[in-house]
Amino acid sequence: MSSRISGTIEHILAAQKPLFAFFNESAWAHRDPADPENADFVAGNPQDVVMPEFVEALQRATVPTGKDHYAYKFSEPEAQAAAAAGLRERRGVPFEDADIAMVDGAFAGLIVSIRVVCDPGDEVIFLSPPWFFYEALIFASGASPVRVKLEPPSFDLNVDGIAAAITERTRAVIVNSPHNPTGRIYTPEELRRLARVLSEASARNGRDIFLVSDEAYSRIVFDDGGFRSPTEFYPNSFLVYTYGKQLLTPGQRLGYVALPPQMPERAEMRSALMLAQLAVAGHGVPNAVMQYALADLDAMSIDIKALQRRRDRMVEGLRAAGYELLGRPEGTFYLLPRCPIEDDIAFTEQLAERKVFVLPGTVVELPGTFRVSLTANDEMVERALPIFAEVAKG
Ligand code: PMP
Repeated sequence: MSSRISGTIEHILAAQKPLFAFFNESAWAHRDPADPENADFVAGNPQDVVMPEFVEALQRATVPTGKDHYAYKFSEPEAQAAAAAGLRERRGVPFEDADIAMVDGAFAGLIVSIRVVCDPGDEVIFLSPPWFFYEALIFASGASPVRVKLEPPSFDLNVDGIAAAITERTRAVIVNSPHNPTGRIYTPEELRRLARVLSEASARNGRDIFLVSDEAYSRIVFDDGGFRSPTEFYPNSFLVYTYGKQLLTPGQRLGYVALPPQMPERAEMRSALMLAQLAVAGHGVPNAVMQYALADLDAMSIDIKALQRRRDRMVEGLRAAGYELLGRPEGTFYLLPRCPIEDDIAFTEQLAERKVFVLPGTVVELPGTFRVSLTANDEMVERALPIFAEVAKG
């Protein structure tokens, strides 16, 4: 690689090779995005036009109310109030407005949280299969990523694995529930066991270990299944949220980091978060218009029941076509079928020849599987199911 590129970026490029190969070189990368025959199940991207009420809320929020409407923004009090009220109402936990730091999505929320507590050389544990950017985000924050495996097909929270991976340098553990890509929602028992392990290890180390709770999908939950926030069980937690999933508008960035009310010394942490927001190359600085609209947006959601019907249709359709599914998602956008052949990259390219696009499991550290995003629309599902069946037979 060129010596003009930093060691950090080179390291990330090497670690994320399957991801960048898929983004740059796959048949999906070379598709004609305007082809109406595409059935695109690759990412959590919208395949239908956005909800009109989202557009209306933003239109109202763009009208300037004064000279500061488009000034630099940190956390706008109205946005903090809307986010905290939403959390109080849905979670029954007394989050305080001032403990919400608005950020530019979960990407920024994760980096800011890690930056606030980690020094170079500190270790951050993440779980594999992961959301494919964790390793890069941890590394880019100056910390060292440590991987703990989740075992198929249940993909239970591997608390013993986390306990075994903890060292004196461990500073944070990222937990993602509902979990991308397995769709698992961790149970209160699993979260209690994790909290016990983290408390004991913090005491042993004489240094706090923080829980970074990636709750990007906490409002994408099926069967009215009880999502419980990992932050309820462990005081030294950062709750990281993004509006990109509930609104299915990942390009229009806004999210937050919330400090749970039981976190000790929150005032210090609030200021540290604000500093870290600036220090993350400006990416932590939240969008003005999205914040003005937040009182409307927080209450808005894509149709979860429709998404659940699509999950059911895909689970049934893929099973009928002969695919084995690793679990049945309790939340998130994703399904994880096993490939009929070992080589998931070759298999997903075969689907791509028929304009059905899915993510090879190798990208999410699960070779031999593929990930299907339910954000494809219903027409794509009906067009794709016979193709899934044919390619499985072939
Ligand atoms: N965490 C998880 C688990 C995700 O799946 C994603 C997006 N795919 C993110 C964080 C990042 O969300 P955003 O782009 O809205 O910041």
